[in-house]
Amino acid sequence: MIPFVDLRAQYLSIKPEVDAAVLKVLDSTQFVLGPEVKAFEEMFSAYCQTREAIGVNTGTSALHLALLAIGVGPGDEVITTPFTFIATVSAIVYTGARPVLVDIDPATLTIDPALIEAAITSRTKAILPVHLYGQPAEMDAIMDIAKRHGIAVIEDAAQAHGAEYRGRRVGSIGDAGCFSFYPGKNLGAYGEGGAVTTDAPEIARKVRMLRDWGAERKYLHELKGFNFRLEGVQGAVLKVKMSHIERWTEARRGCAAYYDRRLAALVRTQSVPAHVRHVYHIYAIRHPHRDALQAALQAKGIATGIHYPVPVHLQPCFADLGYGAGAFPHAEGAAKEVLSLPLYPELETSAQDVVMAALEDWLAKRAA
Ligand SMILES: *Cc1c(COP(=O)(O)O)cnc(C)c1O
Repeated sequence: MIPFVDLRAQYLSIKPEVDAAVLKVLDSTQFVLGPEVKAFEEMFSAYCQTREAIGVNTGTSALHLALLAIGVGPGDEVITTPFTFIATVSAIVYTGARPVLVDIDPATLTIDPALIEAAITSRTKAILPVHLYGQPAEMDAIMDIAKRHGIAVIEDAAQAHGAEYRGRRVGSIGDAGCFSFYPGKNLGAYGEGGAVTTDAPEIARKVRMLRDWGAERKYLHELKGFNFRLEGVQGAVLKVKMSHIERWTEARRGCAAYYDRRLAALVRTQSVPAHVRHVYHIYAIRHPHRDALQAALQAKGIATGIHYPVPVHLQPCFADLGYGAGAFPHAEGAAKEVLSLPLYPELETSAQDVVMAALEDWLAKRAA
């Protein structure tokens, strides 16, 4: 059996370090926020090349609070992509603003900047690009549009820790960046977690207040806040993982390059421009008979994933946004065809060989 991800392999590789760090938190009884979270925030902001990083309880909360901190609320519009995890759009809805969707570039699968300008209205407050699968969206074009229209850019970097666009780390390019530390993400906590990165002191101050009931001073609530605090144990685990993240990211990139060498000629893959550093949260291929391919791989003990089978505008819960089938042909096409292959830092070359042989075998049988 080749799993899609293997969290146990990574835990075993750092077990003594992590166990000691967790026990230290238990011993200190600093269960929520505290020194481990603060130390992690400092390491993470340095890693993202930003002045500030604010730890929160989930990636979804990071998006929600970043949007609130730049003043997004009822009556506003935020432009994003329909080809993402549902949380991107849910976070916009939580603020009371309206999500305005534009289609993806079918080659890169990230938001198509050429379609953004036509979606801008007098109500548009922000653009929310998603660095899908760990590949940065086309940020130069997005930042240029935002500057010309005087609107903000919030990066959904939940899948893209350490990814770079023209040498700059994601999360440092827009007004704020939002990260998830869900266990399966490239930097994963042992529970839930997230962070907002920013260079703007005022955004940082607001996010810090909003995550902790809108108060800078205890029991004086300036803003209507939330309980979105990061736990001490998660801060400690993430801090340990920071000293390994670059090695793990390079291992992911190595796995992707190894897949590319044999698969690029056989199937369609996400195209990766030369000016980005893709960090491969997901390695996806495309095939018109995706479901049959997935079943064939499963029959050979190879687990795969689909990210994502239903685009956000076709989710029942967002029917009220008013976009029907056919609204975003490239997102809908990708949703029907993408298949995510096993990829994690500890994945062995021999396992990748098995995956690729099974894929070649299935393609050869189809052609016969
Ligand atoms: C995982 C993810 C989120 C949400 O993060 P959580 O920590 O699960 O709340 C948001 N956007 C994208 C693109 C994601 O992959």
